[in-house]
Amino acid sequence: MSLSSLIGNEQNKELLKRSLRSGRLPHALLFAGPEGVGKRQFALSLAKAVNCQQAVSGAGAGVYPEDSCDRCGSCFRIANKEHLDVVEIKPDGAYIRIDQAREVARQAMLRPMEGRKRVFCIDEAEKLRDEAANAILKTLEEPPETTLIILITATPNSLLPTLRSRCQLLNFAPLPIEEIESYLAANYKRPAADTRLLARLSNGSIGRAISIDLSVYRNARKELLELTDVLARSRDPLRLIKAAEHFGKKEREEFIDILDIWSRILRDIFSILLDQKEGIVNEDVITRLEQLAAAVSIRLISELAESIEELRRNLRVNINKQIALESLFLRIIDLQATS
Ligand SMILES: [Zn+2]
Repeated sequence: MSLSSLIGNEQNKELLKRSLRSGRLPHALLFAGPEGVGKRQFALSLAKAVNCQQAVSGAGAGVYPEDSCDRCGSCFRIANKEHLDVVEIKPDGAYIRIDQAREVARQAMLRPMEGRKRVFCIDEAEKLRDEAANAILKTLEEPPETTLIILITATPNSLLPTLRSRCQLLNFAPLPIEEIESYLAANYKRPAADTRLLARLSNGSIGRAISIDLSVYRNARKELLELTDVLARSRDPLRLIKAAEHFGKKEREEFIDILDIWSRILRDIFSILLDQKEGIVNEDVITRLEQLAAAVSIRLISELAESIEELRRNLRVNINKQIALESLFLRIIDLQATS
C-alpha cells in the first residue's frame, strides 16, 4: 500500500510526504506506538516511496516522489518482499543478536543493489541490547546518503537512549473506533452489528479487528455471561467447580483472552450501572447485560474486576489456573455473604 492509502496517523503521513518531496528525509527514524496500529505498514510504504521508479520532476539530491505508485516493478517487489535493498530484521529468539546487528552495519555501507536507497526496518528495536546496539550506533549516526534505517518499537521507553537519541521519533496512535468501523464496512461484507462489534474489540488496530474470529468470541462471551450470572445469583457450587475446571484447562494464551473478554463484559455492566451506555462494547447483547446489571452491585463488579486483574498478574508465574479460579469464585461468594 502507498502512504496515502494507509488508514489513520495522518500527521505522520503528511510529515513523511513533506520530507520526501523536500529532500529532507532523516536517515534514521524511530516509529513508536502500540502493536497493530500500522508502524510496519508505514515503514514498508516509505521504503517503496524512496525506491519507486516513477519520475520525480525537477528532482534535486535526496528528493523522492512524495508517495509510491504501487505499480512499478520496484513497488511490486517490495510488496512481495523480494526487493534486494529492503531488509526487515526481527529478533532471533529473545534479542536481536550481535551478528544480525553487525550484518546491518556492514550492508548499510554498501551501495543499493537495485533501487535508490537501502532500507533497514528493525522490528522490536527495544530488543537491541548492549553489544548488538553498539554495533549499529555509528551506522545510525552517519549512514551513507543511500541508506535509511527505521527502528520500530511498541515500547519506546525500553529502547536504549543511545539508539533513541540518534533517530527522529514518530509516534503512532491507535485509530479511532469510527475509522476502523468505516474501514471494515467498506472492505468486508458483514452484518452492521458484527462490524460494529469488531471495531469496538479492535483496540484501535485494524490488524487486530481483522484477526478476531467473532464466532469464537461470541461462544466465550456466552460462557462468561453465564458464569457471571451464576456468581451473581444462584452461586451454585457445582456449576462454579465445573466452570473452574473448564476454563482452568485452557492454554495460557487462550486463558488470557478469556480474562480480557470477561473484563470487557464487567466494564459494560459497570457502564450500565453508571448509566453511561455510549462506550459499551458488547452492544449486541445489551438486554442480557442489563439483566445482569440489575442483579449485581457496583461493589461486586469492582471486586470481580479487581480479582481478574490480580489473576492476570499472577499468570506471569506459572500458577494453577483452576485453583486460582476456584479461590476467586470463593472470594466473590464470601463477599456477597458479608454484604
Ligand atoms: Zn512505484
